[in-house]
Amino acid sequence: MGESSVIAVYLLESDDGLILVDCGPETVFEGLKTAIAAEGYDWQDVRHVLLTHIHFDHAGAAWKFAQNGAKVYVHPIGLAHMQNPEKLWNSAKRIYQGAMESLWGEMHPIDPELLVAVDEGDRLTLGGVQVDVHYTPGHAVHHNAYQIGDAVFAGDVAGVKIHGGPPVPPCPPPDIDVDAWKRSIQTLRDLNPTHLYLAHFGAVDAPLAHLDALEATLDDWAMWIKPHFDAGAAPAEVTTDFVAYTQEQLRKAGVSEADLTRYEAGNPSFMSVTGLMRYWKLKEAGRL
Ligand SMILES: [Zn+2]
Repeated sequence: MGESSVIAVYLLESDDGLILVDCGPETVFEGLKTAIAAEGYDWQDVRHVLLTHIHFDHAGAAWKFAQNGAKVYVHPIGLAHMQNPEKLWNSAKRIYQGAMESLWGEMHPIDPELLVAVDEGDRLTLGGVQVDVHYTPGHAVHHNAYQIGDAVFAGDVAGVKIHGGPPVPPCPPPDIDVDAWKRSIQTLRDLNPTHLYLAHFGAVDAPLAHLDALEATLDDWAMWIKPHFDAGAAPAEVTTDFVAYTQEQLRKAGVSEADLTRYEAGNPSFMSVTGLMRYWKLKEAGRL
């Protein structure tokens, strides 16, 4: 979409080819190939793709690597959708409508023999690289974080933070569960990582302070939405005020106008309003 520093993927060496953590949507596949080549590697040497979760901006291009024989690791709840993405695609289409192809490109089924379900407590050894799997729901019910040594690759459960700005929680429907998310933040704290890597975008300097700030903003945003939910407002009626509220928070924290655009690209406000409204609805119905 012409923005840089919005979607990150991570490339690791192993004795069994390259490992990717997340792979972005299919629309960035050509850019990813170029970026891998610029680091002196060949994308065709990617043998393992660790998906933090199956949202398209993380997992949309996984089938391209699988077509080349790479194994794709994913939480069991997300696995069926990677094997047969039609239902996932159609449900996303209700939100994105005509923008599906321009945002996400194409998505094709992955051969079940190349899909590996990974869940809490699993330990993988990929070409000599030990990967510990931590189930971390809250942002998505199919979300894992991957620990390699003193580094944790946290997908979206550790929030969005662009160019040193403050961390914010991406809250798209349909899985937002603030209580589960806070437990997952505690899971990450307990790992006490030296290095914490986000999908949006990059490495975090001080992981524990980052996680504290993320949790505070998650609570703050959820409580900002609550009275609007109680009043029966539709997400579209609330989004303008939510954008004003959250952008003021970001500006006060010193975020530049260019980075405000990146925050919105990595974490669209309409999605967060809709996701948090749904959270309150399910919570009130006793379904969380
Ligand atoms: Zn996500």
